[in-house]
Amino acid sequence: MVDLSALDKLDLKAFFFDMDGVLFDSMPNHAKAWCTAFEDLGIHFTPYDAYMREGMTGTSTIYQAFTRQLGRDASEEECKRIYKVKCDIFESLPEAKPMPHVLEVLQTVKQAGLDIYIVTGSGQHSLFDRLNTHFPNIFSREKMVTAYDVKKGKPDPEPYLMALKKGNFKANQAIVIENAPLGVKSAVAAGIFTIAVNTGILKDEELSKNGADVIYQTMEELLSHLPEIIAKAKR
Ligand code: MG
Repeated sequence: MVDLSALDKLDLKAFFFDMDGVLFDSMPNHAKAWCTAFEDLGIHFTPYDAYMREGMTGTSTIYQAFTRQLGRDASEEECKRIYKVKCDIFESLPEAKPMPHVLEVLQTVKQAGLDIYIVTGSGQHSLFDRLNTHFPNIFSREKMVTAYDVKKGKPDPEPYLMALKKGNFKANQAIVIENAPLGVKSAVAAGIFTIAVNTGILKDEELSKNGADVIYQTMEELLSHLPEIIAKAKR
């Protein structure tokens, strides 16, 4: 059973949604791109490694893989080259589809009169247009925190603190929807009630040990609990 009793302490005004692995089923493509980019260099990197590092900057991911396997730092040139290979592979893959049932989740939140923010480490220039195409009339440009807004990014609390600041919310006035361990860590460090939806291949434990308040397996499961969550958390 999921314990929702902590929701009583909230004064809910907004939901903050992560993007990769939450709005779009894009993590399989990211994992594939990372694995192939590293494989070309003889570096062993598994899809699990990619999912565990979701949210980290590309540079940090490359540095970690180098020190772990080659026992040395990657040069700046290597870093740039590998990241470019990763991005090129990612771009060549079929565009990720919206996560099943996430549109209904967004509509339920909107119909409850709550604000919706995007908090993502992604920095694609076409991001807003893409969101608007798949989820019309849900998002607004002002209610986004992207790679361009932050210095540190997840797992630092910075992106979620920035979303609180943008909306003039207190930490107990928002709920975060995340899928990744480092995203959960970031949201929890910002003091926000965090729902993890384990849409990927990781064990639930990776999300719970980073502080997720609640874990669901699919957006459909979240959707089925959402009316109760909103009723409990709204004053
Ligand atoms: Mg994510």
